[in-house]
Amino acid sequence: MSKYWSPIVHRLTPYVPGEQPKMMQLIKLNTNENPYPPSPKVLAALEAEASGQLKLYPDPNADLLKQAIADYYQVSPQSVFVGNGSDEVLAHTFCGLLKHDRPILFPDITYSFYPVFCQLYEIESTIIPLTEDFKIRVDDYLQPNGGIIFPNPNAPTGCLLPLDEIARLAANTDAVVVIDEAYVDFGGETAIQLIDQFPNLLIIQTFSKARSLAGLRVGFAVGNPVLIEGLERVKNSFNSYPLGRLAIAGAVAAFADRAYFEKTRDAVIASREWLTQQLESLGFTVLPSAANFVFARHPQRDAPELAAALRERRIIVRHFKQPRIDQFLRISVGNDEECQALVAALQEIVALVPSA
Ligand SMILES: *Cc1c(COP(=O)(O)O)cnc(C)c1O
Repeated sequence: MSKYWSPIVHRLTPYVPGEQPKMMQLIKLNTNENPYPPSPKVLAALEAEASGQLKLYPDPNADLLKQAIADYYQVSPQSVFVGNGSDEVLAHTFCGLLKHDRPILFPDITYSFYPVFCQLYEIESTIIPLTEDFKIRVDDYLQPNGGIIFPNPNAPTGCLLPLDEIARLAANTDAVVVIDEAYVDFGGETAIQLIDQFPNLLIIQTFSKARSLAGLRVGFAVGNPVLIEGLERVKNSFNSYPLGRLAIAGAVAAFADRAYFEKTRDAVIASREWLTQQLESLGFTVLPSAANFVFARHPQRDAPELAAALRERRIIVRHFKQPRIDQFLRISVGNDEECQALVAALQEIVALVPSA
């Protein structure tokens, strides 16, 4: 605490990202990064850009990237907004589209950055509990609100809401409905195809997960140009150049290499299915995942103890000390070797007599 801080700063409880260990030789299954490197074409584009004009500012509108995203999803570039990671796109969305007189709605179990943005921008929220089986029930959201936001597939559950339910939600809501599709490529269908029908629907995606570019920091939103203009006004009141030259060049190259994207995505999906089956045979309950992680619990084993035992074996997973899910572990899908090491470690740990 300091008298030099603005009053709002005293009230903030910042988001705590999953650990990025400095220690080497850890199997890192805690922050849902892609186990595969980005496309070699991305690396070539970064090298070319780095030997180019780094002394000059980047294009403040990142038009090349907007056009690449627009072409990919067959929308107009005026329907595309880009930012320094989807966390920044989310921040501008909370500030520019979700602050109204009525509270916004989001699930009790969801991306834990949402309540942090609410604090920062002083936005009221009403928390809507997921069902017993951790699903989003659209009917629970059909009440007066200042906006609705959730990830699809949801995080950290991995559960997917079908597209027709998103359409039903957007059709029956006056305010903005934001779908955070950070993981959609691993098992969902994007709601971008619905934006022409619903002017209140905003879709947010990231290059961090399915495109293996968490280190580059690129995210984007697609929606009606009126929503995008709202975001541009906030962005241009905050930072004119959120994306550097490297970020723009790398992201454009990532979208251009469809074959590499499909190959790595399919490998992650295959590993997720294998991992799910292995965990189930070890007695775990695994929620059906459409993402690049699984959310699992063992009926006889304490989740924090399992996480600690894994850590002793140099494997890190994510545990959330939060009601309803404090006996679950969120495990990112690794490459074959990492998944096998995890299963082998859990076989050992589960075979031990529990510390009564
Ligand atoms: C990872 C993640 C993000 C953040 O993505 P960045 O583009 O890396 O900022 C946003 N939403 C959800 C649900 C995520 O899991």
